[in-house]
Amino acid sequence: MLECNTCKGRYAPLLPDGTRYFHACPPLTRVAVTRADEPIVVDLSAVLPTDRVTVLRAGVLVTVPVVALQAGDERQGDIQVERPDKRDENIVNRPDDRRHGQPKLEGTGTREI
Ligand SMILES: [Zn+2]
Repeated sequence: MLECNTCKGRYAPLLPDGTRYFHACPPLTRVAVTRADEPIVVDLSAVLPTDRVTVLRAGVLVTVPVVALQAGDERQGDIQVERPDKRDENIVNRPDDRRHGQPKLEGTGTREI
C-alpha cells in the first residue's frame, strides 16, 4: 500500500486483477462562503459551521449556515483547482517528450504504509 505525499490518498499500486493502478491527485475544492458579512472563497477543509453558503434546495436558491445544510442541498459557487504539487502516475507515451515512459507528474512522491 502506498500513500501519496501530496494528497495523502492511499492506494495499492497493483489491483486484485493484476492491472496497475495509476494514482492522480484529485483537485482541491474551494467553497464560496459568507463569513462576517464578507463573501470569500476558502478551502473545503477551512469551512466553518457558522459560514453561510448558498444552496439549491428543492429547486430554490437559499442561503443557510453550514451547520444547517441538509442532505440533497447543492452548494453553489464551488470551484475545483489543481493541487500545486499534484502527482499523476499516468505514463507519458510520446517518443518526442523527454518524459517518455515516465509518470506525467511526480508531485512530492509516495511512501510505503
Ligand atoms: Zn495524490
